[in-house]
Amino acid sequence: MNTKNITSWLNIDANSDFSIHNIPFGIYSGKQVKHRVCSAIGDYIIDLFELESADVFDINRSVFEQEFLNDFIALGKPITNKVRLKLIELLSDTTSILKTNTALFNRVFKKQSEVNMLLPVKIGDYTDFYSSIDHATNIGTMIRDPKNALMPNWKHLPVGYHGRASSICVSGHSFHRPKGQQKPADAELPVFGATKLLDIELETAFIIGKATQMGDSITTANANEHIFGMVLFNDWSARDIQTWEYIPLGPFLAKNFASTVSPWIVTLEALEPFRTEGYVQDPKVLPYLQYSGQKNIDIKLDVFLKPQNGSENKICSSNYKYMYWTMEQQLAHHTVNGCNVNIGDMMASGTISGPSPSEYGSMMELTWRGTKPITLNDGTERKFVNDNDTIIIRGYCQKNNVRVGFGECVGTLLPATI
Ligand code: CA
Repeated sequence: MNTKNITSWLNIDANSDFSIHNIPFGIYSGKQVKHRVCSAIGDYIIDLFELESADVFDINRSVFEQEFLNDFIALGKPITNKVRLKLIELLSDTTSILKTNTALFNRVFKKQSEVNMLLPVKIGDYTDFYSSIDHATNIGTMIRDPKNALMPNWKHLPVGYHGRASSICVSGHSFHRPKGQQKPADAELPVFGATKLLDIELETAFIIGKATQMGDSITTANANEHIFGMVLFNDWSARDIQTWEYIPLGPFLAKNFASTVSPWIVTLEALEPFRTEGYVQDPKVLPYLQYSGQKNIDIKLDVFLKPQNGSENKICSSNYKYMYWTMEQQLAHHTVNGCNVNIGDMMASGTISGPSPSEYGSMMELTWRGTKPITLNDGTERKFVNDNDTIIIRGYCQKNNVRVGFGECVGTLLPATI
């Protein structure tokens, strides 16, 4: 089916993230519904369990009544892609059962504002990369040496670490300012207390859609078979805890207290039309990391800070296309030693900064370690995140009149517990 010029019989706002070209997957709960698989169009969710009562997909509808998308994803791309294309067909064909059967329509469509979106997948393992050259250069310049900002390995492999899956929360949550050890520069010994430098990291993450066995390696050429889709990701970070703890093994308690993900998984197939060129990789990478074709994606990413009872302030506009290492390379590197991956594993991009200061993806970079505070529209200043601030990440692709978006990734920082 050629979906390029397709339109829906539903009236969809041109600025909606959930156009007929998107058709993402998520899990919702609502009145009398504990958890079900759904998709989205415009302001609606589409209840796939209800829809399958009409046998439109010819699959066992129990897969749509699970707490997570893992079982649905496990059906494999030939099936899940077919479900997505069937939805596009049902939403565009004016003679479809969904358009003509009012009782079915009323059971299937629910206003997004009237349901709760849940964590979309059961996350087995979580990995975080460090793949934006502008971000790595900024951090290296600030904390090490402006002349040698990048470590010697950085352009040869996508640096990453194994993170914590248990504290990844779906958009709309809040958490308390974490506590831990910090060592002030002028102090001889560490102190214990709430972090003073709570930061955000603007990231995306991809979700594994096809497992491998131990010993197997994924190549850059077949990586897309293993990537189900993407979400927005905020990797909250406590910079003072991080500075004291991270040598020699990397981040630990500075990162594992909370991360926020957006609820809709936008499929890789929906993102394909927005592929674009990436940075030229120089020096040339080793053969297992080489790839052909356009592997970056043009995803506009905005970050907003909203104080308690205040209005939103846009603090950053970046783009996924600034990634130096692509998802395909990250996955090839992750598995080149035979490390197996499982459905639902989540792999985050690392902070996505662009070349200009308004494109920096963390407060650390935006305020240059607190030396250039941001002034908000209420006149107050921020060096890092204050108690009761809400951070909202939004992301979307747009080409000609086609828009495919992620919705929102929202988290609120509460004061530390006593
Ligand atoms: Ca990170």
